[in-house]
Amino acid sequence: MLNQAMTSTRNNNEFRSGASDAVTGSLLGCALGDSIGLPFEGISARRIRRLNPGPLRQRLLFGYGMISDDTEHSCIVAQALIASGGDAGAFGRNMAWRLRWWLATLPAGIGLGTLRSAIKLWLGFPYHQSGARSAGNGPMMRSAIIGAYAGGDDRLREDLVAVSSRITHSDARAERAAQVIACATALALDNETISPARAESYFGKWARNDEALKALLQRAAQSAADNQSAQQFCVDNDMRKGVSGFCYSTLAVVLQIWFRHYDDAETAITEAVRCGGDTDTVAAIVGGMVGARTGRHGLPQHWLRCLNDWPRSVKWMESLCDQLSQCRESGVRQRPKYVFYPFALARNLLFILIVLAHGFRRLAPPY
Ligand SMILES: [Mg+2]
Repeated sequence: MLNQAMTSTRNNNEFRSGASDAVTGSLLGCALGDSIGLPFEGISARRIRRLNPGPLRQRLLFGYGMISDDTEHSCIVAQALIASGGDAGAFGRNMAWRLRWWLATLPAGIGLGTLRSAIKLWLGFPYHQSGARSAGNGPMMRSAIIGAYAGGDDRLREDLVAVSSRITHSDARAERAAQVIACATALALDNETISPARAESYFGKWARNDEALKALLQRAAQSAADNQSAQQFCVDNDMRKGVSGFCYSTLAVVLQIWFRHYDDAETAITEAVRCGGDTDTVAAIVGGMVGARTGRHGLPQHWLRCLNDWPRSVKWMESLCDQLSQCRESGVRQRPKYVFYPFALARNLLFILIVLAHGFRRLAPPY
């Protein structure tokens, strides 16, 4: 009896530390992908090879990296989950307020769909009517953290992804892509082996009435099964210049990489960045998915040491995730860790200057 009780306590603790590690790994994995990909955003695969032929590292500011909207949105989702205790309606209302104030801090590089919806929120639209008609990447970039949080609770995960997506994007494709990302993240949480041959059984649900999504899943799975590189996959699928901000282009590349490297964050993020185009977002999504599987300690530690931002520092994100895990276990809402908005505004003004200076530097050779 005592043995049984001890085993049960141990299993519970293992579950707890595992769940906590998944959300922390997911958020930090997203931040790493974002910070490694950001300096290369909008340039081609060929130019990235010329600029950085060796192993990738952070390089935005003297060898250190910063985060952008992709990670900030994942933090906003985590805060709204903590404040709502995972109740979908409360989550939507809370997230809507956070997006309003996030816009007020003048974030650089905000997507058009997200900008239009945040303005609609300020004009008084409720969170379920504020989405802009856009099939951009916004919903996908904040979806892995929901997969890590909800895990195998399909109903909870799908409800939360639907709310999170529709706040900014009303196009059904953007939501379906976000559902696939959260589902994939949750699938890989246990120690199961992921196989591209099972793509249909993993994600077929969302492709039932969507021929484009069905074809995309088949292409990505086949390419991964053939062990093609992501760059070659891009060349074969009209993305020679890089991955666009259209959700289905991004989803195809993300899945192609995830099928092959779902437990290796460094390789997955490197492949994502080397495809060119929307590098920070593609790498942030891949990093968020893989990080949920590997946990914090499975992430490349040399990259984590060079991630340097404020007020959303690595330490800040770690304690936000601890709070999120406690909240998931207890089901009790809490007041989440916050960012003092004037600090975020000051940081963003400095960030715009850094990004501009980096942009000018990129005009110089090698081409
Ligand atoms: Mg970004």
